[in-house]
Amino acid sequence: MKFSFKFCAFTFLLFLFIFAGVAFHWKLFQKEINGDIRHHFRDETAYQNYLLNDVNFAGVAFRVVNVKKGDNFWKIAKRNHVRIDSLIGVNPYWKDLLARVGQRVLVPSENGVLEFVRDYNELNEIADIYGVETSSMIVEKKPPLYSWYHKYDGERKPIAVFIPKVKPRVAMMTETLASRFEERELFRSPLGGRLTSFFGSRRHPIFHRKKFHNGLDIAARRGTYIGAARGGRVVFAGWRGGYGRAVIIEHDMGYKTLYGHMSSILVKPGQRVQVGRIIGRVGSTGLSTGPHLHFTVWKRGKLINPLNILW
Ligand SMILES: [Zn+2]
Repeated sequence: MKFSFKFCAFTFLLFLFIFAGVAFHWKLFQKEINGDIRHHFRDETAYQNYLLNDVNFAGVAFRVVNVKKGDNFWKIAKRNHVRIDSLIGVNPYWKDLLARVGQRVLVPSENGVLEFVRDYNELNEIADIYGVETSSMIVEKKPPLYSWYHKYDGERKPIAVFIPKVKPRVAMMTETLASRFEERELFRSPLGGRLTSFFGSRRHPIFHRKKFHNGLDIAARRGTYIGAARGGRVVFAGWRGGYGRAVIIEHDMGYKTLYGHMSSILVKPGQRVQVGRIIGRVGSTGLSTGPHLHFTVWKRGKLINPLNILW
């Protein structure tokens, strides 16, 4: 009787032990197949501090920049010689692209995206996702016994991986930023230039009264080539009142773009164009104070801010 009781207790404990072990591993396994890198950290500050203090990379460095008054993410990217999408690629907590004064922004020393894995075996998967060779990725070096002891450590630290040159994937972003990013990825800037006047209310440069500006002005030298912001069909090419020589292109998904003040037009109505196709050259025709491109965007007939779709 006594023996039997002991035996039962022992069996019970043994089963409990096995069950706990299985549950523990199952939980770890669950954690591993989560694509979102934010689940590795408590919050953005913890993420940034971890990257600055604990991660040892050879070949890429990170620093934190504080957003100052008048700053935006584009200016910060430019000052630090990286692309805006590289800032997105290392700041996975961003919910939008509005920089707030005092906000801490992580800046990489070169273009690319940061990912985290739980195991070196997952590196192949990351390489596949970005279409790169595993050897081109910069992988954090962990202590020799890392892959053994981390299995039994609930606070296991992830392995940082930097994938140079690539653009971030939307699965890594917050939902709100992902939708904005996807919209921007549909378009290409019609030309490189200085943004001189933005979408919204402004004092008109010729009439000197407050007026709604329905697009974005990009200053560039007279004659600079202008490319289609997205593929589509030219629905207008000619003189259009204050816009001077202008082109309108209809795209899919309800988008339409207008390019104004051109010095010359290089497409014809009805013509199909691909993204980046040269459609004309910068000028100052119509109501204009100097050579620039006026760029207007509609989505399903409604005006939208061109900066919502341009990088
Ligand atoms: Zn304008």
